[in-house]
Amino acid sequence: MSRYWSDVVGQLTPYVPGEQPRLARLVKLNTNEHPYPPSPRVLEAIAAVDGDALRRYPDPESSELRLALARRNGLQPQQVFLGNGSDEVLAHVFQALLKHDKPLLFPDVTYSFYPVWCDLYNVSWRAVPLTADFRVDPAGYSGGNGGIILPNPNAPTGVLLGLDGIRRLLVENPDSVVVIDEAYIDFGGESAASLIPQFDNLLVVQTLSKSWALAGLRVGAAMGDEALIEGLQRVKDSFNSYPLDVLAQRAGVAALEDDAYFGRACQRVISSRERLSAAMARLGFEVLPSAANFIMVSHPAKAARELFAALRARGIIVRYFDRPRIDNHLRITVGTDAQCDELLAALAEILG
Ligand SMILES: *Cc1c(COP(=O)(O)O)cnc(C)c1O
Repeated sequence: MSRYWSDVVGQLTPYVPGEQPRLARLVKLNTNEHPYPPSPRVLEAIAAVDGDALRRYPDPESSELRLALARRNGLQPQQVFLGNGSDEVLAHVFQALLKHDKPLLFPDVTYSFYPVWCDLYNVSWRAVPLTADFRVDPAGYSGGNGGIILPNPNAPTGVLLGLDGIRRLLVENPDSVVVIDEAYIDFGGESAASLIPQFDNLLVVQTLSKSWALAGLRVGAAMGDEALIEGLQRVKDSFNSYPLDVLAQRAGVAALEDDAYFGRACQRVISSRERLSAAMARLGFEVLPSAANFIMVSHPAKAARELFAALRARGIIVRYFDRPRIDNHLRITVGTDAQCDELLAALAEILG
């Protein structure tokens, strides 16, 4: 606390990201990064950037990358918004589209950044409980609200809501913006972007951080009706005209051009997830059905907090959330098969 801080800063409870330890030997399964590097074309595109390109400001509209994303999703560039990671995109979404008199709704177990942005922008909100088996029940969201936001698949559970469930949210809440945060959609779900032409209240948020293996590049996007995108553009142009640097724009385009590499890399993660889930079940874990690049597990005989500490002592880092309903669960990022095997061997030893 400092007397120089504004009231708002003093009252914030910032989001705490998973740790990024410097030790190279660690098995790092705590922040849902892709276990394999991005397409080699990404590095070629970055190497091709010259001093003249860096001397100048980047394209404030990221036109090429916008066009590439629009094409990929059967949309027009005016239906695409870009930001410095989807966290920045989401922050603008909260301010531009989700701040209304009625409360914003999101699941009780979800991305813990949502209430942080509500705090920052003074958005009222209410949590809607997931079912006992951690599914989103669209029925809980009807009856008036200032907006709806949920990750699909949900984080940190990995559980997917089908497109029929999303369509129901859109139909039953025509006066609210429904934001679907698709950070993990490429690991087993179908994007709601195909519904954008039918619903002017749908905003789909995506990122290159997880399935495209580019968390270090910071590229996020929102897609939706032109009027929603214009609202986001107004906030962006009142905040930072150049959220994407030259490297991010060029490398992002190069990544999207290599769809074959992308598909293979995602498929490898999906195969490893299925293998890991089955092996965890054999160790006695309850494993939630995951459509993401992580799994959420609990063990009937050993507290998650103790497992977390015992794994950490062995150089394996997973994520533990000390929060209601999930304080006896661990969220484990799907690594390479070798990393998963190290995890399994350590757990077998810990569980005796
Ligand atoms: C990782 C994640 C994001 C943010 O990703 P960026 O790296 O900022 O693009 C957004 N939403 C969810 C649910 C995530 O897990």
